Amino acid sequence: MDGTTSATLDAMRTALRGPVIGPQDPEYRRVRTIYNAMIDRRPAAVVRCRDAADVMAAVDLVRDAGLTLAVRGGGHSGAGLCLVDDGVTIDLSPMRWAHIDPAARTATVGGGATLGDLDHAAHAFGLATPSGILSSTGIGGLALGGGHGHLTRRYGLTIDNLLAADVVLADGTSVTANATTHPDLFWALRGGGGNFGVVTSFTLRLHPVDTVGVAITLWPVDRIHDVLRWYRDFLPQAPEDLNGFFAALTVPAGPPFPEEIHGQKVCGVVWCWTGDPELLGAILKPVEDPGPPAFHFTAPMPYTALQSMFDELLPTGLQWYWRGNFFDRITDDAIDVHAKYAENLPTPLSTAHLYPIDAAAHRPGPDETAWAYRDAVWSGVIAGIDPDPDNAEEIRQWCVDYWEELHPHSMGGTYVNFIGAGETPDRIRATYRDHYARLAAVKHTYDPHNFFHANQNIEPAAR
Ligand code: FAD
Repeated sequence: MDGTTSATLDAMRTALRGPVIGPQDPEYRRVRTIYNAMIDRRPAAVVRCRDAADVMAAVDLVRDAGLTLAVRGGGHSGAGLCLVDDGVTIDLSPMRWAHIDPAARTATVGGGATLGDLDHAAHAFGLATPSGILSSTGIGGLALGGGHGHLTRRYGLTIDNLLAADVVLADGTSVTANATTHPDLFWALRGGGGNFGVVTSFTLRLHPVDTVGVAITLWPVDRIHDVLRWYRDFLPQAPEDLNGFFAALTVPAGPPFPEEIHGQKVCGVVWCWTGDPELLGAILKPVEDPGPPAFHFTAPMPYTALQSMFDELLPTGLQWYWRGNFFDRITDDAIDVHAKYAENLPTPLSTAHLYPIDAAAHRPGPDETAWAYRDAVWSGVIAGIDPDPDNAEEIRQWCVDYWEELHPHSMGGTYVNFIGAGETPDRIRATYRDHYARLAAVKHTYDPHNFFHANQNIEPAAR
C-alpha cells in the first residue's frame, strides 16, 4: 500500500465513527465477501459508515487522495460493482435502519437497508412497496436501477414509489433530492444507478399489502412452447392484482415440492395476488390451458413470507453470472431459444426468468424517470448459478450463449441491474436509449470529474 493510501486510511480512522478495515484486520475477509462468490477483489479498505457524516468525510478523503471509490448497499451486484481492487468501498451495511410513518404511508430507510429490512418494518403496519424477490438484496442498488418484483403490476417499479433521497455528492456535501428540490438529480436517481452520489436514505411510498395469495405452477419442461405461448397472452390481460414471473428451473429437493418431481427440469410461474383472496382460484383456472401442470400450489401468506421464500435456496457464496433483456412481446422464435436452453440447464440452480413490467409500471410517462423502457412488457434475466467454482466457466458460457441467441428477439437494452460482468459500455447506452444524453448532463452537474465511476458508468457530458 503506498504512502497516500495509508495516510488516507489513517485520516479516515480519525474522522469516522465506523471502522476502516484493511487487509491486516481480521474482519477483512468477511467484509470483502459479497453475494456473488465469482467476485474476488481486494480493496485497500472497506469503510463501514455509520451515518451520513461518515459518508461525507469518507467521500472527501477518498476523492482528495485520488483513490477509486465503490459503494456497497446490499452487496448483490452480479458484476461485483461494490468492490474495486486497491480502492475504497464505502460499506453502508451499518445503515440498515427503517422508519415507517403509517399515517403518511411512507418508509424512510438507510442507504444500506435490505429489502427484508424494509418489508419487516412496513409489514408490521400492513404496508409494503414494490421491490425484488429476494430479501437479502439491497434497496440501494435495486432502487437506483429501477426495481421490479411481486407488486410491480399493481404498484409499479420501486422508483415509481421513490419520494425522496438524501445524497452525498462528489464534493462531499449532502442534498435532498425530490420532485421540487434538485429535480434533475431526482429524475436521474430513478433508474440511473449509483452514478450521482451515495444515497444515505430513501423515502418510499407504501401501499396496503398484508396477506397475499401466493401460487406456484410448474409444467414439465417439454411443455415450454405451449406454456410460454399461453403465458404471453394470459398475463398482460389479467387484472393488475395478479403478478406472475415465468421461470425455467430444476425443481429444488424440498417442500413444498413433492419428492417425485425433485430434480426435474420444469417451467413455471410464481404468482402473487393482491386482490380478494376468494377470487384467486377462479383467476388461475386457466393454468390448465397449456396442459395439466405437474404441480400447482396456492396458499395465502404474509407478504414477508413470499419475499423471503427463495432466500434459503439462494444464499450468499454461490457462483453467479447473469445477463438481461427487455421484451415487448415473446415471439415464437424467442420461445424456441428458451426451450433449447431450458432443456439444457447446466446446473440445478441455473435459471431464466421473465419479470412482468407492464400494468402499473406502464403508467408513468416515458420521460418521467431515467428508466427508458416503459414500453417493455417483460424484463428477462438468464442466470448461471452453482456453488462449485470449478463450474464457473460452464455457467458463464451457458448464459452468454443463451443471451447471444435470445438477444436478437428482444428490444435491445437491458435492465441496468442485469448487465453482466464484462459487458461493453454500449450495453449501458442501449439501456438508457435517448435518456443517456440527459443522464450525462445531470452527471456533469453533480459529478463532473466522474468520481463515482465504479458502477454501470454514465460519463459526464462535455460542456
Ligand atoms: P450492491 O452490490 O451493494 O450495489 C450495486 C451498485 O449499486 C453499487 O456498485 C453502487 O453503484 C450502487 N449502490 C448500492 N447502494 C447504493 C447507495 N446507497 N447509494 C449509491 N449507490 C448505491 N433486481 C430487481 O429489480 N428485482 C429482483 O427481483 C431482483 N432479484 C435479484 C435476486 C438476486 C439473487 C440478485 C443477486 C439480484 C437481484 N436483482 C433484482 C438485481 C439487483 O437489483 C441488483 O443486483 C442490485 O444492484 C443489488 O443492489 P445491492 O445494493 O444489493 O448491490
